Amino acid sequence: NKRKRKAVIAGNWKMNNTPTEAGLLLEALIPGVHDADCEVVVCVPFTDLCNVVAKCAGTNVHVGAQNVHFEKSGAFTGEVSADMLLDLGVEYVVIGHSERRQYFGETDETVNKRTLAALNAGLKPIVCVGESLTQREQGVTEELVRMQVKIALKDVTEEQVKNVIIAYEPIWAIGTGRTATSDQAQEVCAAIRKVVGELYGNDIAEGMTIQYGGSMNPANAAELLAKPDVDGGLIGGASLHAGKFCEIVDAAT
Ligand code: PGA
Repeated sequence: NKRKRKAVIAGNWKMNNTPTEAGLLLEALIPGVHDADCEVVVCVPFTDLCNVVAKCAGTNVHVGAQNVHFEKSGAFTGEVSADMLLDLGVEYVVIGHSERRQYFGETDETVNKRTLAALNAGLKPIVCVGESLTQREQGVTEELVRMQVKIALKDVTEEQVKNVIIAYEPIWAIGTGRTATSDQAQEVCAAIRKVVGELYGNDIAEGMTIQYGGSMNPANAAELLAKPDVDGGLIGGASLHAGKFCEIVDAAT
């Protein structure tokens, strides 16, 4: 294992798997990753969390949610707070996924509020950033991602930022089967590390986990994960198949 940082492979189940289905998937997944050389995470729907936390107890599979509200408690019907997740035994939370930005009005500002709420409660946020196809074609990918990272991390302390994972997910690569090339992924992940270095210094930037996400699968994972600034993956579609997910975990050595 020549990695600078331990890889983190996180499945993002999105709106898939009932609690019953989640149990079946984990029965196949848990034995397949027990000797993983990387951190293994499954980010599951709220309704699966209870079962998934119970199933993963005593295994090397860590559990994440896919969103969190930024208020601590109160009259916010339908929302779930960071303290609720923590008390349930959840460790990670995906924040600002492009689907939430696109369909649910998430902005860089709400991503920042959610990130702070997660960190203040003791959860580890997986903060998603990434450009659309138009933005890439206009040549603004790097400035856009720099801005997304800077706003997401506003008021996050040096101590807190050590618990943040950033996931670079080009929107055009999500669920499309069109993966970024490993050079494209490397270029943007390196730019993210650079901006983190400008904000927090080199040591913190060098320690940060930066994932790539967007149609990562068993066929392309090894090449993407071989890049020096790609420290793992956020896996959507392929995380719904135990066999595929285990292959990606195996590629992260
Ligand atoms: P995908 O999704 O692997 O299905 O492209 C990745 C993600 O949206 O996190």
